[in-house]
Amino acid sequence: MPEIPDIEAYIEALRSRVVGGRLLGVRLASPFLLRTVEPPLQALEDGTVDSVERLAKRIVFEVSPAAERGRPAPAEPLFVVLHLMIAGRLHWKVAGAPVPKGAGLVAFDFEDGCLIVTEAGKKRRASLRVVRGREELAALDPGGLEVAGSTMAGFAEMLRRENHTLKRALTDPHIVSGIGNAYSDEMRRLHEAATAVLSEWTERLRTEARQTFPEKVTAFRPGMAVHGRFGMPCPVCGAKVQRIVYAQNECDYCPVCQTGGRVLDDRSLSRLLRGDWQRVAQARMRPPTADESDPGD
Ligand SMILES: [Zn+2]
Repeated sequence: MPEIPDIEAYIEALRSRVVGGRLLGVRLASPFLLRTVEPPLQALEDGTVDSVERLAKRIVFEVSPAAERGRPAPAEPLFVVLHLMIAGRLHWKVAGAPVPKGAGLVAFDFEDGCLIVTEAGKKRRASLRVVRGREELAALDPGGLEVAGSTMAGFAEMLRRENHTLKRALTDPHIVSGIGNAYSDEMRRLHEAATAVLSEWTERLRTEARQTFPEKVTAFRPGMAVHGRFGMPCPVCGAKVQRIVYAQNECDYCPVCQTGGRVLDDRSLSRLLRGDWQRVAQARMRPPTADESDPGD
């Protein structure tokens, strides 16, 4: 799925194309995409895009509505909130380009081009919302911690609350040896690593996005050390990258640099993932709701 560095790259590319421009209109090809009814899409017509921002993994366009004939423009800006979920992607095309059949969800028409949203596969999970005013926008914030700029304390608190698997991995001496009392030190290192990796990739992808529109958003990028490199040599130590497969996820890791020389076996793996197995089982038993809360926020 597009992660925060990918979203930042999209935003970088969009800012130079749409901020200050006029949104001529919106062509909705897949009605299910739109999860709000008021204000209607028509309220955006001829509005001016004032900013493009990120809200967790959502891309947010701030639009000043056009004045209706004989009346001043409404004071409150409209916000177009786009969540690409897993398979949603953005494409920048020439003005008036057709929305591709099948995968095409919506087109936003500007004077100099159009932004097309597509979603691969059959599942329709990407979403579009239009809200009025900052207060309504704030209500869409899932409230997760932003790793960039987070404090060590805030980061640790988030992990304890939300990531049982990781906590288990860091505290279970059978999985990672020698943690024990060093738990807080590991947390500090993890916080530094998460912050550094995120900012490095964000900067790298934003730099690329300044050259060309990011058409190829993928979770597998050249330059990544282990992700998507099962069986290939670790760029740091040369050991073969190992892979764990569980549920719909897979996890690639270096058994030298990342687990202190251990190849994770089935027993340590099942211990590591126990919480996740239960979550997966519960999720399968529960019927999906119309507006499933967004994973990965
Ligand atoms: Zn290594």
